[in-house]
Amino acid sequence: MHRDPFDWIDERQARLRTAGLVRTLRPRAADSDLVDLAGNDYLGLTRHPEVTEAAAEAARRWGAGATGSRLVTGTTELHARLEEELAAFCGFEAALVFSSGYTANLAAVTALSGPVGSGTLLVCDEGNHASLIDGCRLARAEKAVVRHAEPEAFAKALAAHDGRAIAVTDSVFSVDGDAAPLAALAGVCRESGAALLVDDAHGLGVLGDGGRGALHAAGLAGDADVVATVTLSKSLGAQGGAVLGPARVIEHLVSTARTFIFDTGLAPAAAGGALASLALLRREPDRAGRVRDVATELHRRVTEAGLVAVRPDAAVVSVRAPSPEAAVRWAADCRAAGLAVGCFRPPSVPDGVSRLRLTARADLTDSEVAAAADTIVRTAPTAA
Ligand code: PMP
Repeated sequence: MHRDPFDWIDERQARLRTAGLVRTLRPRAADSDLVDLAGNDYLGLTRHPEVTEAAAEAARRWGAGATGSRLVTGTTELHARLEEELAAFCGFEAALVFSSGYTANLAAVTALSGPVGSGTLLVCDEGNHASLIDGCRLARAEKAVVRHAEPEAFAKALAAHDGRAIAVTDSVFSVDGDAAPLAALAGVCRESGAALLVDDAHGLGVLGDGGRGALHAAGLAGDADVVATVTLSKSLGAQGGAVLGPARVIEHLVSTARTFIFDTGLAPAAAGGALASLALLRREPDRAGRVRDVATELHRRVTEAGLVAVRPDAAVVSVRAPSPEAAVRWAADCRAAGLAVGCFRPPSVPDGVSRLRLTARADLTDSEVAAAADTIVRTAPTAA
């Protein structure tokens, strides 16, 4: 008897459609004149001529792909330079680059959890990014999920555990754009002898002196018990990810992290592009401050008009929508008015509240920021 193995998918899609939660793909036009507050190109570097030229030159010199695992043929001098430069810029002893921030997070969480039987406890903020959550799912460790951004909740979970532990948190949370209390978390970790693992995907290029990241800003970069992960695909305008930390931790990852060993190395073009972006950040350190100012101004304008948004700690401004359908319609109305904004709906939002997600960009002029805020306010659903 033939049985349709995928009939449940039709039912699930129908349920999603009824709830207004079906996702569709829309190719982005290369020459679009939309003002883009939807992407993560915080510093406006992805199309910077120095960055695209460095990426193109890397591809011409090394090929369109890395050709193999970093451990076999996939390490070029660009990878080595990028690792040195990332570590130096962010203030860590060493760095290791991955093909994405996602795989960097999987690596950091699983490889630091130690061998089976080490009794490691992972204490995770409930607002952590999906890639940290997936790392925890893969890790052979005990897990505790604690209340969002509450050092006391971390302290309680750590106190209840006898053995090794790692506190795991985003530096800036992707949904609401709020920051983790890193200094307090580091204090809690120090008291209980735990390591601190921080995903600084939204902090690099935005927070800290010249964009050196949230850990640099908190005085924790280079700390012997602190490990950070970053992405190269947001502020650096390229693609890829990295783990930053003490040299012995990085050496351990090279030999044990499965998403490093069994994945093809980062494409040379991405490594070249990211290196050029880091050079620009060093030369033009004001970009980080500008993106924070743009976020603050967007927030000020939309909240003064009566919309509800969490005060941004970095580049992400998240504005509440009354329902998933209203969020989709609102984003479409913004698009029709020339503004691309992100639209977050369940299951990407843990609390079920849909949001428009605006990403501030350092390369927007004051009048573009004012016009963008005006479009958001003008198209807002009345019950927002
Ligand atoms: N962590 C956070 C907080 C993120 O927002 C993202 C990107 N959505 C990632 C990790 C994954 O990074 P990448 O896109 O480089 O895989």
